[in-house]
This record gives sequence, C-alpha cells and structure tokens, in this order.
Amino acid sequence: MLGVMVDVSDAETTSTANATFRELSTLQSFAKKLLESGTVKMVIGYSQGYTSDRAMPAFITDPEKASSLIFDKRCFHNLTMYLKTAEIKCAGKIAIVVKGCDAKALNVLLLENQIKRENLVILGLVCIGVGDPTLEKCRICNVNTPPIYDELFGKPVPNKEWTSATFTRVKELEGKSQKELWEFWVNEFNRCIKCYACREVCPICTCTRCITDKNQPQWVPTSPHSMGNFHWNLTRAFHLAGRCIGCDECERSCPADIPLSLVNWKLIKQVFEKYGFIAGMSPDDLPPMSTYVEGEEEEFIK
Ligand code: SF4
Ligand code: SF4
Repeated sequence: MLGVMVDVSDAETTSTANATFRELSTLQSFAKKLLESGTVKMVIGYSQGYTSDRAMPAFITDPEKASSLIFDKRCFHNLTMYLKTAEIKCAGKIAIVVKGCDAKALNVLLLENQIKRENLVILGLVCIGVGDPTLEKCRICNVNTPPIYDELFGKPVPNKEWTSATFTRVKELEGKSQKELWEFWVNEFNRCIKCYACREVCPICTCTRCITDKNQPQWVPTSPHSMGNFHWNLTRAFHLAGRCIGCDECERSCPADIPLSLVNWKLIKQVFEKYGFIAGMSPDDLPPMSTYVEGEEEEFIK
C-alpha cells in the first residue's frame, strides 16, 4: 500500500499545531483500525507529556487509546530510534508515525537491513517544522513531505532543493582559521561528560556493541578528558558520515550543550557537495561511503 495518501485538502485549519484537527482525527482513526484489525501489534507515535509544554513518545497497543495520539510543534523526537531496541524488534508488525526527517532515518535503516519493511506500517506526516523555529534541521529541511510512507496525513508540500549555500551555520564555521577551529572544538568537546546520550538517541547508531564499550583493547578512554572526548566525538561523527540524516536529536539530548549538529551538518555538506548524495532520500540509493566504483580516482590516498 506504499504511496496511498489520505485526502485532507479541505481539512479544518483551526489548530495552531502542525497537523490540523481533521488530519489528527484521521491519523487517530487510522491507527485505531490498524490495531482493531490486528494488522499491527503496536502504534508508535506522540502523546501529551506529563507537563503541558511537552509531548512524549507513545506505544499504543489498545485501539481505544489511539485517540491519545497528537502531532504538533512539541513532537520533535525522532521515534525511529526505538526500532533498534530489542523490545520493538520482537514486537511483531508495528506502525510508526514519522515526519520527513524521521522517514529519512527509516530509509537508511532499510538500506542497511537493520529493519524489515514488511514489519512496518509507515504513517507519514507532512511537517512544516517543529520545536524552536530557528532549528537548523527545520530551517533547511528538504523533506517536509516524508520520502517514504504507507499513509500520508496532510497536504504534500514541494520539497526544497539544497545547494552549498543552504548550510549557513557550517559555512560560518568554515570561515575560521585552523587555529580558531581547534580552539573552538577543544572548548566545546571539553564539556563532554561521556554520558553517550548522543549515541543512545541516534536512530542510525546501531552497532550491537559500540567501540566505546570495548575494553580489550580500550580504544576510547572512558573518563571525560580532552583526548578521550575528542576521540569519542570524532569517532561518532566518522561512523555517521554519509549516514546521518540530520535530525539533530543528538544535539538536543546533549546535557553539555555541545553543538553536535555542526559536526553532523559539516559531514552532510561534504557528502552532498562531493557526491551529490543525501542520506535517507530512498531505501535503494547506495551510499558513497560503502560503495566502490571501478575506475574511482581515489585521490584521498594519493
Ligand atoms: S548523528 Fe545526530 S543528527 Fe545524525 S542521525 Fe544521529 S541523532 Fe540524528
Ligand atoms: S551527549 Fe554530549 S556529553 Fe553526552 S557523550 Fe554525547 S557529546 Fe558527550
């Protein structure tokens, strides 16, 4: 049923949230039917948090609870991170609510055979931005309409094209000298306390055993000091090169307020400029970092 779209073109626009009242009720009743019919065992979406200013992830198994689903500007979490957990992996077929950026993560996970397409019903939401309006991921989002879905809720909007000029925050950083850059990152990474929240929240960090957890040999020093912090943060970034979809969840969850998105977006920009590749646009596009084409110049080893 890939590509089916719910027509909400005449939806009421009384809601201040992203999803209009009618879109939301269409989502709720669709989720209810999926659970009632036994098509899925669980719907992962958003519900009201414990305080009025927060939304929280919802794991709904009771059809009567489908009416608690919400979607608005508080729904910045990338719920696809739950797909890597053992509990969800063995839960059977599930439905998941995704914005465009979350859907990109799904495409990467599908491409890397981390999840099975037949175990998913993808409930795509047209999203015009969540959280703080200055969020980089929303400012330069090129997937307001999710690139993959089974059912789409909301009227599709044309996606933006990227150019090198899109990445303004990274370009500011690129204007710094090597010395200034070094000082900038020493200052930022010095605050890292090695809590690994950035890793835990990332949908694309899927290694069964992270290099930081290996101690024979101990590749990454465990205590938070300059050298180990650099080692950890650069290793994390390199492992995500060509794979990070720029959901900025790592930066949001960092208790030390380290601007991790600057590292991620630098790599995203590099891969885009060099290979014209944007991770997560399709589950079939081979990623440049794990693809070899005969005749490549390999100038990086010259
Ligand atoms: S590295 Fe950060 S921005 Fe990239 S996919 Fe992971 S959580 Fe999202
Ligand atoms: S979330 Fe922040 S403080 Fe925690 S390990 Fe990652 S970079 Fe370090």
